[in-house]
Formats: sequence, C-alpha cells, structure tokens
Amino acid sequence: MAVATSLWQRAKAVIPGGVNSPVRAWRAVGGNEPFFVRRGEGAYLEDTDGNRYVDWVQSWGPLVLGHADPEVVEAVREAALDGTTFGAPTEREVDLAEEIVDAVSSIEKVRLVSSGTEAAMSAVRLARGFTGRELVLRFAGCYHGHGDTLLADAGSIVCPFNGLEQTAVAVERAGERLAAVIVEPVAGNMGVVPPEPGFLTGLRELCDSSGALLVFDEVITGFRVARGGAQELYGVSADLTVLGKIVGGGLPLAAFGGRAELMDELAPEGSVFQAGTLSGNPLATAAALVVLRRLRDHDVYVRLEETAAALEEGLRHEDVTVQRVGAMLTVFFRQAPVRSLADAQASDLDRYASFFRHLLSRGVYVAPSQFEALFPSSAHGPRELGLTIEAAQEFFAG
Ligand code: PMP
Repeated sequence: MAVATSLWQRAKAVIPGGVNSPVRAWRAVGGNEPFFVRRGEGAYLEDTDGNRYVDWVQSWGPLVLGHADPEVVEAVREAALDGTTFGAPTEREVDLAEEIVDAVSSIEKVRLVSSGTEAAMSAVRLARGFTGRELVLRFAGCYHGHGDTLLADAGSIVCPFNGLEQTAVAVERAGERLAAVIVEPVAGNMGVVPPEPGFLTGLRELCDSSGALLVFDEVITGFRVARGGAQELYGVSADLTVLGKIVGGGLPLAAFGGRAELMDELAPEGSVFQAGTLSGNPLATAAALVVLRRLRDHDVYVRLEETAAALEEGLRHEDVTVQRVGAMLTVFFRQAPVRSLADAQASDLDRYASFFRHLLSRGVYVAPSQFEALFPSSAHGPRELGLTIEAAQEFFAG
C-alpha cells in the first residue's frame, strides 16, 4: 500500500476530515486522498511516496523565495539554539516591526500575532473599539480567516466585490453604526479577482465620509504584489492593514498595523485588549527578517513579475480566463472575465478538477480548488514554467 494511503486512513481516524485545514483534503477536485508531503526544496515538493512536483501553491502564498531557502533555514536553526519562545520582548521583534513600518506607508505602528485569522480578528476588534461602533462591511468571496464576524454572513454586512454602488447604499444605510469596511484589495480567495478602476478609491471615500475605518486584508497581497502591498500598487491607503503569509517568512507569524493614534488604542497603551503567548515568536521573526530584507531588492519583484507573466501567457487558451496581479494568478474555466464571486462560481468546476488531476499526473501541483491562486516564487524559473505549460497545453489539446 502507498505510504499516503495508510497515512490517510490513520489521519481520518484522529483528525476531522483527515486534515488540519479543509482545502488540504482535495475534495473540490474529486480527490479520494491528498498526498502527504515529505519535504520541499525551492520550487519543488516531494511526497511520502517519492513523487516530485513543481509546486505552484507554495503553502498558499507565504513562500515567496520557495521551500527551504538556505538562508531562512539557517536563521531559524540559529534562533532555535537560543530558545524557541520567551513570552518577553526580543530585539528581532523590534527589527521586524521597523522593517514592516518601512515597507508599508500607512503603517506607523504594528503588532505581531501568529496567524492571518488572528490578525484580521484583532484589526476588527480594534476598529470597533476605536470607533465605538459595531457593524462590519465585507465582500462576498473575500476571506479574512475564520473569526465569527468575518466568516458567518450573519455577523456582517456583505456586498459584492467590485460593487461600489451597492456598497455606497449599504454604507449609507449603516450610517454611524459602521465601524469598518474590510476588503482584500486584490481578491485571492475566490481565485484572483483584481479591483476594478475606482473600486478601492471609492471605498476610501465612502469610509472618509462615514467615519468607518478602511481595513485592507493584505495577508496575500502584502509583500507580494509590491513590497508595500496593494496599497503601493494602487496608491490607496488603508487605516488598518492586515498582514500574514510572506510577512512571516514561512513560519507562523502575521501582523496588523496602522496609524499610531489608532494602534495606541491597544492595551497596554489603550483599552482594547489583545495578546498572544507566542506573538513575535523568535523562530518566526528570524525567518521573517531574512525574507523581508531580501525583498528590499526591487529586482526580486521584477523577476517575479517576469515569471508570473510567462506563466499567464503559457496558460492562455480559449476555454479559460487567466487573471493575474503580480505573482498571483488563477486560471478560471470560464470564457468571460471574473469580477465577483457570482462570476467565479459560474466557472466549470468539473473541468478545473480534471485540469488539476492532469497536471498532478504530470508532476505539477496547482491549487486543489478553482477558488484559489497560484503563487510563483523566486525559485520558479524556465524549467518549471516549461514543464507546467507543456502539461497544461496537453490538457487543453486533449
Ligand atoms: N486573510 C486572507 C486574505 C487570507 O488569504 C487568509 C488565509 N488564506 C487569511 C486571512 C487567514 O490567514 P490564516 O490562514 O493564517 O489564519
């Protein structure tokens, strides 16, 4: 029996659905069982049965330098020798906060947490505390972690992504009860859906006139679409910014930040309580510093853009629409552009599942769901592009 099959049986007996995060089960692509990963190196993953794959998922975005980057691994190893957690301030937390403040222009102060879910929940809690208001407006198809307010439709006002007119009506109706508008400035959790011209500036104006805070969830876009995130790319500033994935250098670390007067509402300075035993963890800050310092080199972004553009070009076919912003892209099995969740849901999901399985059989691992992105890293190059494009065009031709 394959190693994965026996692991899968053991996993299902003791872990709900056999996985620690639902998308890993491959149900959306008709998989009977997922692979189990043994190791990663650069652009590649190796499973427990010894198969190698070009990996375009890259742990869903954090690994902008690819797997097991030697400098990152060494920094984590060295940090571990000095102890893995202290629950007391360390120098690297200060260095990392300075690095984030330097990169994202709307952030004057930042607090480190351990996951994107935690960062988004905390940002909303802060927005409510600062404004003294309750309601949160979000957009269908955006994901901000599994905190109740941000996941259940009952906990918030939900508008269509790119639907500025509907949003204006909802903001007007909520009036002085609206604490925050939270958005992925480039949606990545219904597949990649860019903001249409005027959408983000429109949200900025609506927030300014209503007194609600604009929260950009840049968990995916932060340090990916530009060093300063989507805010740099589109020239729109958020009041609060949620960061995750790349900011943690591949370890469990996330952050939220904004203007000093806002962030100073947090305890112990202010009255909004927020805390974390493992926040600013020594291993995570060590990895994060290596990655964020490497991302000071603009050439990294130039090369990422080239790789991602070549992938986009190579995956084009009349049956699909490839949507891309920087190093994040999705192949939608639909012939028309996708500008909202309703559009994304009109994709041919069975065809995507076949595409996924075909690529996997050719040693190429893409997101096991239509509603996710591919994440080129600096470890991907001509060889990986070639293997992927050949396998994809073979699928389209067949
Ligand atoms: N926000 C966005 C935009 C995300 O993509 C994700 C996770 N994919 C989260 C928040 C939640 O982050 P985490 O999985 O680290 O809790």
